[in-house]
Amino acid sequence: MNKLTIRDVDFAGKRVLIRVDFNVPLENGQVTDDTRIRASIPTIAYIAQQKPTSITLMSHLGRPDGQRDPSMSLQPVAERLAQLMNTQVTFVEDCIGEQAQAAVQSVTDGGILLLENTRYYKGDEKNDPQVSEALAKHGEVFVNDAFGTAHRAHASNVGVAKYLPAYAGFLMEKEIDYLSKAIEAPERPFVGIMGGAKVSDKVKVIENLLDKVDMLLVGGGIANTFNTARGYAMANSLVDRDALDLVRGLMEKHGDKIVIPDDSVSGDAFNENANTQVVDLANGIPAGWESFDIGPKTIEKYRAILSAAKTVIWNGPVGVFEISIYANGTNAIAQTLAEITELGVKTIIGGGDSAAAIEKVGLAERVSHVSTGGGASLELLEGKALPGLVALKDS
Ligand code: AMP
Repeated sequence: MNKLTIRDVDFAGKRVLIRVDFNVPLENGQVTDDTRIRASIPTIAYIAQQKPTSITLMSHLGRPDGQRDPSMSLQPVAERLAQLMNTQVTFVEDCIGEQAQAAVQSVTDGGILLLENTRYYKGDEKNDPQVSEALAKHGEVFVNDAFGTAHRAHASNVGVAKYLPAYAGFLMEKEIDYLSKAIEAPERPFVGIMGGAKVSDKVKVIENLLDKVDMLLVGGGIANTFNTARGYAMANSLVDRDALDLVRGLMEKHGDKIVIPDDSVSGDAFNENANTQVVDLANGIPAGWESFDIGPKTIEKYRAILSAAKTVIWNGPVGVFEISIYANGTNAIAQTLAEITELGVKTIIGGGDSAAAIEKVGLAERVSHVSTGGGASLELLEGKALPGLVALKDS
């Protein structure tokens, strides 16, 4: 990474402002998944050890759209962070203005303060200079560890960096190292797995990956579109018809790299009680049925290809993993990645649904890296520069 990180700064005696990604799910005022909070702790703990004057944390949560919506308050996050770090975390019910400033000034001896949701102000998402400047008043040095928002140019991650020296935190560094290095200088064979609902959401990622990988295994609704493009009848399956021409073009250009499912678990309904059958796709899906998962032959074929890889990047479930009868393919991919990681293969899981899928089967700790950012990891895989990263000091 060509950016300065928190290793390049002496934080002693400084007021430190950190943008974290505490955009976590809440239910009835409780944090239901603290993955992102835990992911920020190495950075906070490292800075805390260096005896700064204060550590002020800021984040958005959800989409309050410029309104004070109590259901999106960061207060429960302050409580969870305090438990996880076994330290006191002060919470202040605003992120800019007098109350917030007074709270920051009252912290001494390296205390930790969490500001209220930055998106209670419309100016955050608008990258309003007034909001940026007001936030910047809380620190003498700025650290951005919010990889999950790095694809957005907002006041709390990009604007604020105009007013303070700005450095990358450990999470930001780790995400960039895994996701960019894998793409730019992978150990080969380099295999990509692309699943998810629609080709059109991921066209740029597919195109960019096809230029870099040795093989691209497709699954999910995306595979239905590829199978339609090669002339197979997919009956009621989710097919992205608008993307058919594009898919045909990709198959012409990169046909040797693209691996398409040959069989599928098809169902007659989108629920747990559906009837299912394994269909050989060359015979077509029977009328009234839909392809919801990759079939056993495809699982074996994909396992064999993955077992010969040295680097794997996975984005998007290969079936409707939320419904258990259609989750076998996705679970088998997760299991295979855990197994090959043990053999020294670098396995990287893009954020969003594939991260949720690997967490659901309890294998997230057994792969090399699970990204904490869905949109941000997709944009990196598209080959785009992330504004949240660009704004930091170059090394
Ligand atoms: P994405 O957000 O594009 O990664 O898509 C993830 C969604 O795609 C998940 O909610 C899956 O249930 C869905 N999905 C995966 N495979 C299929 C399929 N064969 N048919 C319909 N939806 C699918």
